[in-house]
Amino acid sequence: MALFIQKFGGTSVGSIERIHRIAERIEHTCRDGHQVVAVLSAMSGETDRLLRLAHAVTPHPDDRELAVLLSSGERVAIALLAMTLRSRGVNARSFTGRQVGIVTNSSHTRARIAKIMADPVRKALAEGVLPIVAGFQGVNEQSEVTTLGRGGSDLTAVALAAALKASRCIIFTDVDGVYTADPNVVASARRIPKLSYEAMLELASLGAKVLQARSVEFAAKYGVPVEVQSSFQKGEGTLVTHEDADMERAAVSGVTGDRNQAKITVVGVPDQPGIAANVLGAMAEACIVVDMIIQNVSHQDALTDISFTVPRSDLARAMALVTRTAEVIGAKTVEVKEEIAKVSLVGVGMQSHSGVASRMFRTLAGEAINIMMISTSEIKISCVLDERDCNKAIQALHAEFGLDHAPGQKGMTGRGEGTTS
Ligand code: ADP
Ligand code: ASP
Ligand code: MG
Repeated sequence: MALFIQKFGGTSVGSIERIHRIAERIEHTCRDGHQVVAVLSAMSGETDRLLRLAHAVTPHPDDRELAVLLSSGERVAIALLAMTLRSRGVNARSFTGRQVGIVTNSSHTRARIAKIMADPVRKALAEGVLPIVAGFQGVNEQSEVTTLGRGGSDLTAVALAAALKASRCIIFTDVDGVYTADPNVVASARRIPKLSYEAMLELASLGAKVLQARSVEFAAKYGVPVEVQSSFQKGEGTLVTHEDADMERAAVSGVTGDRNQAKITVVGVPDQPGIAANVLGAMAEACIVVDMIIQNVSHQDALTDISFTVPRSDLARAMALVTRTAEVIGAKTVEVKEEIAKVSLVGVGMQSHSGVASRMFRTLAGEAINIMMISTSEIKISCVLDERDCNKAIQALHAEFGLDHAPGQKGMTGRGEGTTS
């Protein structure tokens, strides 16, 4: 008998008919002699609807109250599934984050998990009860409701799998695995059967929202095997686990697009020491994650521009701070561009290949796509471009690097042979 955590995302619980379908799937696993703990997201669109309501009340909703509001979506889903299973004769019981004992820090809508008690879930399992746990939510030390950031139900599932020492954490979603690019953008994208935590973390943090990046970090830390599967059809998915010899070491394993960033440019700042520290220090103090940074060479008048990207959800806060700093340092103006996207080529095998970056830039140039910012690491190259060009760029890069073909057949994929540099 194995214990499985089965997490169902928003689309998988998006209607009563779909809730019946996942009830069947859970029952099926139990009939095979296994134990299941289900973790649910809110019904599809619900978290966005609640966010819109909050913003209809005020442009800057209070963080504590926002967490209270958003966490309600998952409560609805767990109660509906527990009722459905009970009506089918299964002894299921719903559990909120508080009841499970998911304790977080006090960053209300971006909380980090500090510990998981999980005793009530263990007790339920021992009594033959099937626990249905609300994803995305916890409580801080003062017992106030917190939420774990967008896509946070994945983290709840992985963290519970670690706490309960489950055999596997299965993430059921609306695609049947992790692909070389979002299959809703690139029709010829290929499912990757097995992926290392490292490669998955890079894909997830660069925009492949099929798994929340923090859940992958957590899975890697505690060695939780995570499987992504379709909740609509049976079949193989993608296993995310420790790197092994079976894994593809393709130069490029995937292409991602991230539309959640915005670009801020401080125009006409004096080109002298300490300016970047001033502008970016304010962001760090406010815990706003700055991703890409470009400081241009100074113009003749010894003035320069500094551009950087921040999460779009932090833009209002970032702008308030930057505008204040700009005044202090005597900058001319502050400009914002929200409609940007970051397109990245990702691959742990990239470190042993040369020419990937130039081929990426040439491909984008061939599509007449302008690059605004570039950043590279050993295993990824990212370009910021106009949001309108995002899908076109992903499709062109996917084709250029031969990702819709099995590794070794074409392009720069293959078992990490490496070209000379
Ligand atoms: P859920 O509601 O089940 O949590 P999400 O919407 O968070 O589902 O994640 C699934 C979506 O992730 C897919 O519908 C797909 O559009 C998107 N996606 C982005 N990149 C990838 C990728 N590389 N592989 C698979 N899906 C991806
Ligand atoms: N409902 C939350 C969201 O939409 C959490 C999740 O779905 O994982 O972000
Ligand atoms: Mg998700």
